Amino acid sequence: MTLLPTPPVLTPQDSLAPPPHGWTPTSWHDHPAAQQPDYPDPRALRRVTETLALQPPLVLPGEILDLRRELAGVAAGDGFLLQAGDCAERFASCTEDGVRGKLRVILQLAIVLTFGSGLPVVKVGRIAGQFGKPRSSPTETVDGVELPAFRGDIVNGPEFDPASRRPDADRLLRAYHHSSAALNVLRALTLGGFADLGQVHAWNQESVRRSAAGRRYEKAADDISWALRFMSACGVDTGAQPVLHQTRLYTSHEALLPAYEQALTRYDEHRRAWFGTSAHLLWIGDRTRQLDGAHVELLSGVANPLGVKVGPSTTPEDLRALCERLDPHRSPGRLVLITRLGAGRSGDLLPPLLRAVREAGHLPVWACDPMHGNTFVSPAGYKTRRLTDITTEIGEFFGAHAQEGTHPGGLHLELTGDDVTECLGGELDEIVDARLGTRYETACDPRLNAAQSLELAFRSAEILRA
Ligand code: PEP
Ligand code: MN
Repeated sequence: MTLLPTPPVLTPQDSLAPPPHGWTPTSWHDHPAAQQPDYPDPRALRRVTETLALQPPLVLPGEILDLRRELAGVAAGDGFLLQAGDCAERFASCTEDGVRGKLRVILQLAIVLTFGSGLPVVKVGRIAGQFGKPRSSPTETVDGVELPAFRGDIVNGPEFDPASRRPDADRLLRAYHHSSAALNVLRALTLGGFADLGQVHAWNQESVRRSAAGRRYEKAADDISWALRFMSACGVDTGAQPVLHQTRLYTSHEALLPAYEQALTRYDEHRRAWFGTSAHLLWIGDRTRQLDGAHVELLSGVANPLGVKVGPSTTPEDLRALCERLDPHRSPGRLVLITRLGAGRSGDLLPPLLRAVREAGHLPVWACDPMHGNTFVSPAGYKTRRLTDITTEIGEFFGAHAQEGTHPGGLHLELTGDDVTECLGGELDEIVDARLGTRYETACDPRLNAAQSLELAFRSAEILRA
């Protein structure tokens, strides 16, 4: 991978600069906040956020800084980021099975990417808190009845009736508790036997094994098992290597609701810095990245790594200004710029963005979200995405980085371990429009199923290796 000369890599401790002048955890109140629910009872909101502020953090500063350190490595070209999970998590799926299913497919993809590319893969889930959704319209009308849009379980319920759709501040507290429960399972699974490399075959589910990608995965898993056996035959005590038996999955979500994030923003005396403790990585969505908006203001003051979604309306000047606001100290890996430009457009739109950011001296992780620029409504009426568009955008992403000499640092995917039929395409077991209704279960955007996700990981690994 060729890289242009880059700024020196600082450790996160070196680069924990103070928040911008005038920033406090409440300074976002002086800025307009897009995409906010209209809570019928502001007193209830205050009561809930006061309660939340007394709860323990969900993640700790030390873990957040570990992720920052790993992302600094990715930004410098020494790794790859896999950020993946549901579009909208449901409270009801924060169960052992729900978490295990998502972890399983993320582990599979990560091992395919690592094995195929030889690069370490940093794993970040859209998990344990991805409950809030920005919407293109604040209301939804069905048969002449207009109700508030569903904004995710953290705000209201999806059922189309006035009681469900009314924003309910108590849901913020429920979101906290469901995140906490999901994290508890996640920590147990990643530290216990489930994430052991010796389980690489067990991550492949029966339904996936039948697909072309599933069979290819079995072959890779055989090779990995063989490599482990080879290492022990050579005398390497593989049993004593924690890296082979445990893994780390960091958490992330869109920081859509500043009131929730503020309640979990905590000062760390030891590190003299503020941290958002609802997840390791927080991102700003394409609809809430206004330079003078509340979301940018709040996140500018926390030391977490920050994601920013970069949609097709982002100009190089916009992006440069955002980077200046969120990364004034040019800290490698502070920012994860997640481009979601659309197949057929990203080849033209991406290079000027890469150049603008590089010329301004930032060293972000560049990640490709090939999902959100490629959504459309199928003739059968389902919101969907074509696997071919998704792989095309990934190809354009790698192409633009090769052209500009920057590192194509990661993928940002909406997927599930379940055998759903939400996105079109796939080798052998192709999902066509008429089949979308069979298992269309998403609470928001269409997700790749496990076989489609694996197919995409194999293709990406091939390009990374080339
Ligand atoms: C999302 O990631 O689910 C999302 C809403 O993305 P974006 O902000 O890029 O539209
Ligand atoms: Mn989505």
